[in-house]
Amino acid sequence: MRYSQYFLNTVRETPADAEVVSHKLMIRAGMIKKVAAGIYSYLPFGLRAIRKVEQIVREEMNRAGAIELLMPSVTPAELWQESGRWRQYGKELLRLKDRKEAEFCLGPTHEEVITDIVRRELRSYRQLPVNLYQIQTKFRDEIRPRFGLMRGREFIMKDAYSFDLDDAGADVAYEKMYQAYRRIFQRCGLKFRAVEADSGAIGGSFSHEFMVLADSGEDAIVSCDSCEYAANVEKAEIRFDAQAPAPAAELQKVATPGQKSIAEVASFLGVPAEKLVKTLIVETDSGELVAVLLRGDRELNLVKVGNLLDADWVELASDDKVFKVTGAPAGFAGPVGLEIPVLADMEVRAMADFVVGANEKDAHLTGVNHGRDFEVSRFADLRQAEAGDPCPRCGGRLETWRGIEVGHVFKLGTKYSESMQATVLDEQGRERTLVMGCYGIGIGRTVAAAIEQNHDENGIIWPMPIAPFQVLVTLVNPKDEAVAAAGEKLYRELCERGIEVLLDDRDERPGSKFKDADLIGIPLRVTVGSRGLKDGRLELQQRRSGERTLYPVDEMADRVV
Ligand code: ATP
Ligand code: MG
Ligand code: MG
Ligand code: MG
Repeated sequence: MRYSQYFLNTVRETPADAEVVSHKLMIRAGMIKKVAAGIYSYLPFGLRAIRKVEQIVREEMNRAGAIELLMPSVTPAELWQESGRWRQYGKELLRLKDRKEAEFCLGPTHEEVITDIVRRELRSYRQLPVNLYQIQTKFRDEIRPRFGLMRGREFIMKDAYSFDLDDAGADVAYEKMYQAYRRIFQRCGLKFRAVEADSGAIGGSFSHEFMVLADSGEDAIVSCDSCEYAANVEKAEIRFDAQAPAPAAELQKVATPGQKSIAEVASFLGVPAEKLVKTLIVETDSGELVAVLLRGDRELNLVKVGNLLDADWVELASDDKVFKVTGAPAGFAGPVGLEIPVLADMEVRAMADFVVGANEKDAHLTGVNHGRDFEVSRFADLRQAEAGDPCPRCGGRLETWRGIEVGHVFKLGTKYSESMQATVLDEQGRERTLVMGCYGIGIGRTVAAAIEQNHDENGIIWPMPIAPFQVLVTLVNPKDEAVAAAGEKLYRELCERGIEVLLDDRDERPGSKFKDADLIGIPLRVTVGSRGLKDGRLELQQRRSGERTLYPVDEMADRVV
């Protein structure tokens, strides 16, 4: 590709809304263009990286025996009603109506659609096992889209779904996907960890998240310094002595009039902000705003509503504000709150000595022990793990990290196959409900995570396997005939060898070309200049190390491969 004819416009200024480095660099390197909040166009240079990741994913899925198909993004409400998720999903599901007033949604995931396909196509155990996947555009109306492709509303996901006759078969499918995921992220050149993403209570863990390690990651993970144990902090539980409840102490009331930030409330109450139980505002199906009190352990962003409605643990509080409490979930039905049916099956864990608060005078309680002062669930003797805690597996010490969830493998069991009646006949002619697994990878998020891990102050440093181009050939002065001729010759030679080359033949100042070269981060760079050519040499430079070596003109093509 000739840069002069390519569509790649780098940007000098850092975009105002970009908080993390991958977002900044993807905009500046002309990879993506914002169309609306959380919705981006993939420009040619960015698309090449996306396609690289997709190709690796595709190859590893195929190698693991999964079969590609493609489902629609617009999916009918009926399927979601069958599974119950039409009601459960909440606002993250973008719902729409056609001209006949029939309801649809843009698929945020495809369990319903794939289960519908499979139940109509499969009759017999002989057709099993099967694992079907697609690489497709998803839509989730994230409450706070940010970080560019990392948390978009429209994004590309690889999603796979396995169907087996029994649990043992489903476990085999899970293991295959787990291994395929390891290969995928290794091949992408990423430092990652597979962490347990469920409590593993039922003998062994059947959900793992693949986390790219990065300080900007939205997830907190713990890992043991002496064994293999690693888990999402949300799911890493430490059992503490469930002492007999202390005599009910007076709950102290604290006045906090006006809108306070979490930090202000925390400092006023004299508790670390991460120990503060914050108010999470959740919109229910009926559009009602309800508040849920939660322990927050990090920045205050409301990002887990979908999980909440899926009856799981919730991680964060809302914007940098303490909101008015209008209710609380069943588990908290104590001094604060009403019963909120839509949240009733949420698991509320015990938290010792916390604060619950609202943006109302006299509506804060300190010294709260949930097990004692509030009626809480069966998790009363569990709390989330923290750095320094003993490893639940070997007693070693836990360390904490931040990570970006790029992939998730999940043993679903019969959740969808049961509600949607996906069955086959077994060897004895009996009807059996299929056992499912689902496996997702965020393609754009993986590219962004790669940049989070691979950059310096000047720009991106692409890992070779996902680099948009492998080699950049820069003509220092393309008007110099010798330079142009040597550059063209090398370009042709490299192209003939199947190497992806960007030839910077632009009529620009060398300084600005080198700046762009650093910014767009192509791993290998050949500089063709009149000075070197006089000695019959070209310079090869590694983007990562900056190391430069001169080679004879005719050797260069061999040196690059
Ligand atoms: P998160 O916890 O970050 O919201 P999730 O657990 O909701 O992600 P999954 O339902 O597990 O996501 O989807 C599979 C994969 O899709 C995730 O591991 C992630 O890589 C990707 N993904 C999910 N949401 C987004 C998003 N808003 N933007 C980009 N990629 C996403
Ligand atoms: Mg999510
Ligand atoms: Mg998640
Ligand atoms: Mg997930």
